[in-house]
Amino acid sequence: MQHQHQVLIVGGGTAGITVAARLLRARPDLDVAVVEPSERHYYQPIWTLVGAGAVPREASVRDESEVMPPGVTWIHDAVAAFEPQANGVVLTNGDRVEYEYLVVAAGIQLDWDAIPGLAGSVGRGGVCSNYSFETVNSTWEAIRTFRGGTAIFTQPNTPVKCGGAPQKIMYLAADYFRRHGLANKTRIIFGSASGNIFSVEKYARTLGSGHIQRHGMSALPLTTLGGVAP
Ligand SMILES: Cc1cc2nc3c(=O)[nH]c(=O)nc-3n(C[C@H](O)[C@H](O)[C@H](O)COP(=O)(O)OP(=O)(O)OC[C@H]3O[C@@H](n4cnc5c(N)ncnc54)[C@H](O)[C@@H]3O)c2cc1C
Repeated sequence: MQHQHQVLIVGGGTAGITVAARLLRARPDLDVAVVEPSERHYYQPIWTLVGAGAVPREASVRDESEVMPPGVTWIHDAVAAFEPQANGVVLTNGDRVEYEYLVVAAGIQLDWDAIPGLAGSVGRGGVCSNYSFETVNSTWEAIRTFRGGTAIFTQPNTPVKCGGAPQKIMYLAADYFRRHGLANKTRIIFGSASGNIFSVEKYARTLGSGHIQRHGMSALPLTTLGGVAP
């Protein structure tokens, strides 16, 4: 089957939904369609607070239909191929959708396999990540059950959903350890692939001016997690 829309947005996550809403606010007459296979929408920034035990992870989930702006055609499918020369995409069900304008907002794909041993261990045994709905509860579990020792926070050498996320959860964890009398028994290490503490100069200045050390943490710049032993 063949469909046609003026504006086609691939991905109904935060970016796709926001673009659709803003376009229709400015031009209510536009014919906008969003291709999104998932019935669920995740508000991912709140996963930092989920990992810190401040809110339940269910607070991050909405039905996709609740966030789809009125007036948008929601195509419940995924794009399998792009055909830019023909201004079209092919869906996984074989249908084609043609567009005048295309917005690609398909997010970022997690690749646990890029780090040897990680795929088999993330989400349990003290190995945790705030980068997915499936694993975010394991962060709070690790913090809550930590009794002292070494806590390692890492930032990889790949693009990530949020560059601040590894440090945000580190500061929240450090605060929890301090409030629970664990600070003296705890060594916190921040291993980052980047040479800078933060990519935005304004924040890098503050964070780099002894902030990490004052809180008893050690920063290891240009350090990438090479693997996780079982
Ligand atoms: C722990 C954490 C903390 C964060 N904190 C902040 C913060 O403080 N401030 C901030 O600005 N940002 C923050 N972020 C980043 C922010 O959440 C993301 O940048 C944002 O969610 C990305 O939105 P997106 O729409 O690009 O991707 P997503 O929300 O991931 O959506 C992508 C969508 O595309 C769909 N899709 C994928 N493939 C296809 C396909 N082939 N066809 C059709 N659809 C497809 C998916 O189903 C998904 O719904 C944080 C992220 C995390 C994980």
